[in-house]
Amino acid sequence: MLVDLRSDTITQPTAGMIDAMRKAITGDDVFVEDPTVNELEKMTAELFGMEAAIYCPTGTMSNQIAIKVHTNAGEEVICDKMAHVYLYEAGGIAFNAGCQVKLIDGNNGKFTAAQVSDAINPDDVHKPTSTLVCLENTANRGGGSCYQLEEINKIRKVVDENKLKLHLDGARLFNALVARKESPIEYGKVFHSISVCLNKGLGCPIGSMLIGPSDFIRKARRIRKVFGGGMRQAGYMAATGIYALKNHVHRLAEDHAHAKQLADAVSKKDFCAQVIPVETNIVIFEVRAPFTAKQVVEKLKAKQILAIAMSATQVRLVLHLDIRPEMVSYTQHCIDKM
Ligand SMILES: *Cc1c(COP(=O)(O)O)cnc(C)c1O
Repeated sequence: MLVDLRSDTITQPTAGMIDAMRKAITGDDVFVEDPTVNELEKMTAELFGMEAAIYCPTGTMSNQIAIKVHTNAGEEVICDKMAHVYLYEAGGIAFNAGCQVKLIDGNNGKFTAAQVSDAINPDDVHKPTSTLVCLENTANRGGGSCYQLEEINKIRKVVDENKLKLHLDGARLFNALVARKESPIEYGKVFHSISVCLNKGLGCPIGSMLIGPSDFIRKARRIRKVFGGGMRQAGYMAATGIYALKNHVHRLAEDHAHAKQLADAVSKKDFCAQVIPVETNIVIFEVRAPFTAKQVVEKLKAKQILAIAMSATQVRLVLHLDIRPEMVSYTQHCIDKM
């Protein structure tokens, strides 16, 4: 039995998804004529109570389109020092939008309204103009931790007072919504734009949605084309998104329970110095000497359990659709014996 806990992106499409793909009615989405893509976009926009949405091949592209639309070259984007948009999008903020970044030293990938206030530059010719704040929920490097909606509302207030824009990298937003029993409508109200991944916990082969007001999405459609993301019969893939939104959201709670189960097992071990409190489907733990993260990953691998070393001392386990309860029991058993 191979237990692949490296990422929630490795899932294979379910039988229901493949069936949905087979039955999809498609057209040319660059002409906005793919009925399945149009349905997915409408469905997502309505879910968040926003005007429009656009289907993108990846979460990286959704985020990069949003950043490009919200900013002009030479401006400054504010985000956490562990943000995906900063760490893992290949320098896209500089490459695509010509902007620089102001990093916030947050707590497990999340920051406060006061920290945003401090990060905004004054109106001074020496300084780049601050125009955009990017939040990440759940925070990937923060061990899948979630924001308090109340804090996000406070951040929005600071953003409004300074005439900035607020973008959410919600790659795993549905994990946060399920964990905290929150409504997507609340998120649609507080952000100027939201990206959500279909290719993570929701289990689609590819895809991400960028959601926002109509004029924003109209501009996003042009930028998506510039980035080479104007797809043709994308409805075959969009059908998996519709299927996942209908069938794979509530089950995320199972992944969260599995993550807690593994975190409990790991926290009892001598090699574990600390586990970042588990709120969703990600377990990140700090490894103690004499062990390194790499050695712990090797030990797990010898048992057919795959994990990722996030740094010299951090190991990450991610729960997802393809991890069944017996795989979690097996992993727990192996950790207990390590
Ligand atoms: C995965 C991820 C993305 C986008 O990833 P793609 O692989 O480009 O779809 C963006 N933000 C976060 C926090 C992620 O974990």
